[in-house]
Amino acid sequence: MNSEQLSERLKQVGSYVRPGARLADIGSDHAYLPCYLAHQAIIEFAIAGEVVKGPFQSAERQVKSEGLTDTIEVRMGDGLDVVRAEDAISEITIAGMGGPLIAKILERGKVKADLAERLILQPNVHARAIREWALQNNWKIIAEEILEENEKIYEILVLEKGLMELTDQQKLLGPLLMQDKSLVFQKKWNREVVEWQRIVANLPTTERPDVQQKGQELEQKIQYVKEVL
Ligand code: SAM
Repeated sequence: MNSEQLSERLKQVGSYVRPGARLADIGSDHAYLPCYLAHQAIIEFAIAGEVVKGPFQSAERQVKSEGLTDTIEVRMGDGLDVVRAEDAISEITIAGMGGPLIAKILERGKVKADLAERLILQPNVHARAIREWALQNNWKIIAEEILEENEKIYEILVLEKGLMELTDQQKLLGPLLMQDKSLVFQKKWNREVVEWQRIVANLPTTERPDVQQKGQELEQKIQYVKEVL
């Protein structure tokens, strides 16, 4: 794949990057997203950050082969370590990882995250970890999206600085996504409920508090979903 044939998932992530942005794409892999946004003349500058040597080298090759070295700098480092104050980054994208890993990168690099105006995050699973991090660090959700591609369902969360309140149900389902109740949203959570019900049905009958707690947590999540769907 080259950056001209970007996945729908990354195109949607890119759609939240504002014209003239100075972007840090963390965990950039082949740097497809910044290359695409540079070709579209949306970004002024981007850092493609990678912590692993193989993907870092792929990103370097991609940026070079697309003639974008003036616009995109490929940097090797852990998470937001690759961002410097003088980069004047306005947007950060972190896509294609689990929610807990994205939240960990943000927590470890929160001083750098605070340099940006907007965070565009695309967790493959457990978006809840990001909503919890946002809540604790004074970022608010300004947009949420859910999409399906190649039979996988992805969420996108867009954060800007500000305060918000979230109930436990909203942390799980997404405050905006649960209002929209799109068909993809319904598909995702119907699927999860079936899986949770299967787990609950197979939990051993026991007095063990950990097993009982697990059952109660799952029942609570099933209830949250049923209230919305
Ligand atoms: N962002 C691209 C996308 O959405 O298609 C690539 C996703 S790929 C599955 C995840 C990438 O994140 C890998 O290349 C991995 O090396 C990188 N990564 C994981 N943890 C990282 C970290 N702490 N800092 C920078 N990159 C990281």
